[in-house]
Amino acid sequence: MEFIPTKTIISSYNENPHWFGINYNMNIYKGCCHGCIYCDSRSNCYQILDFDRVRIKENSIETIKKELQSKRKKGVVGTGAMSDPYNPFEKEYELTREALKIVDEYRFGIGIATKSNLITRDIDILKKIQSHSPVIVKMTITTFDDELCKKIERKVCTSEERFKAIKELSDNNIYTGVLLMPLLPFINDNEDNIKNIIRKVHECGGKFIFTYGMGVTLRNNQREYYFQQLRKIFPRENLDKIYMNTFGDVYENTSPNATYLWKIFKSECEKYNILYKMEDIIKDYKHNYERTQITWF
Ligand code: SF4
Repeated sequence: MEFIPTKTIISSYNENPHWFGINYNMNIYKGCCHGCIYCDSRSNCYQILDFDRVRIKENSIETIKKELQSKRKKGVVGTGAMSDPYNPFEKEYELTREALKIVDEYRFGIGIATKSNLITRDIDILKKIQSHSPVIVKMTITTFDDELCKKIERKVCTSEERFKAIKELSDNNIYTGVLLMPLLPFINDNEDNIKNIIRKVHECGGKFIFTYGMGVTLRNNQREYYFQQLRKIFPRENLDKIYMNTFGDVYENTSPNATYLWKIFKSECEKYNILYKMEDIIKDYKHNYERTQITWF
């Protein structure tokens, strides 16, 4: 494992957070080895060389402690934006777990995005944090089909195992839901996929499902990698050519069925009483803390 020097791990305070009400961002690891073929973090603009190789930020726990101690405003610390905090190395190093303990000690909230069921290991600390501050877990699930999952997110647990994690978290009253994104045009952008995921989230006790854009965004470097993987995984379908003919090299590659799929998404979420609007989700997971901690608002 390579340890890399870093000056800071927690970002500065965001006063008006639109993304799940997250005020601070925290990334302990650099790079991610989960192998999602569409990962945006491979884009040139982030300048992460050799993205699939996980590195650890040196003295991360001491740095997080110092930084949270000195923050004047309480808020929700988010993790999982540029690399999964529950990559396979976390099992041994337990750095995310240690960071959660500090988040608890200094009475911050936490928002975690992951694709790994390893998060259930830390239910004990999430419960402690939730006793004083908001907690939200966003499990990313893009396909109901485990065989497809093994192809497009090949080095992390299957969707079925993620659903089980959602159930375990929900059974322990941890506020949990799903990020249903990206929807890959001509691959998982279909009605059955959306309906099955929503029904299963409901069965597992998930509170929300968030999706955005009904498509996938592609930037330099990420696009080349994605097309290369499409050629490997679907050698006969010519999907890279179909993408180029349909979208060219634009950033937003929206499903040709986007309007219809959005209608289905919305009506299925409403049928099961699952939240899908960002403002409703934020309000819902923070509402218990409104009176006790005015600082959250
Ligand atoms: S888990 Fe997230 S950060 Fe890791 S490869 Fe997949 S999309 Fe990228």
